[in-house]
Amino acid sequence: MHHEGDIDRINIAIDGPAGAGKSTVAREVAEQLGYVYIDTGAMYRAVTLTAQRAGVAANQPDELKKLTASIKIDLEPGEQGQSVFVNGENVTSLIRSREVTLQVSYYAADESVRAVLGTLQRKLAARKGVVMDGRDIGSHVLPDAELKIFLTASVQERALRRFREIRDTQPVTLEQLEIEIAERDRLDEQREISPLICASDAVVLDSTGMSIEEVIQSIVKLCRTKLAEAK
Ligand code: C5P
Repeated sequence: MHHEGDIDRINIAIDGPAGAGKSTVAREVAEQLGYVYIDTGAMYRAVTLTAQRAGVAANQPDELKKLTASIKIDLEPGEQGQSVFVNGENVTSLIRSREVTLQVSYYAADESVRAVLGTLQRKLAARKGVVMDGRDIGSHVLPDAELKIFLTASVQERALRRFREIRDTQPVTLEQLEIEIAERDRLDEQREISPLICASDAVVLDSTGMSIEEVIQSIVKLCRTKLAEAK
């Protein structure tokens, strides 16, 4: 428990649906505050990639339990953002493939996958000063986070942003992305264990029509207010 007056660093949870800009915003907010950025989606992606390689399907809970117990996931801040390692192998770009993206929500619904990653995430946040992005951070993983943001945007806007990001490297249409994002929203919102939900004490930011810079500045400002209040 924290007592008023002894807080000099806080934890910030940034949750929201796919493509809302969470990772860009979280990374930049962390940078400006001198905090550590933790991308929890990357962890679910890392488990998904490892399971796919091992031929383990999302509906094989026993196999998934063994697999998650045996893998070591490391996140390292680097020049171009965060690098992700599984058992020492750098999988940073592999976890962004469409194959992983299309399957990750199924693996993320598994109980032992969520338990193992949730524990790891809490450990990483124990000393405060983290900006963690995901789906269930404010509602489930870090319910005591001092600042919770629920970052959202319309499906159309999110699909368009994703389309601009990947159109040069991956053959996909805007319409297809819209369908896939809506489907991932549905799966993440409707799963039984810690679904995507806006925590009751979260600040909702709809970034439709806002620039990334505006979103970043409003979160940094909220954080400074929280810190000032705690003094
Ligand atoms: O954030 P990103 O889109 O990379 O997350 C990939 C997937 O991982 C999400 O669609 C969701 O299924 C899962 N996830 C989750 N809980 C989190 C972060 C991600 O279930 N905290």
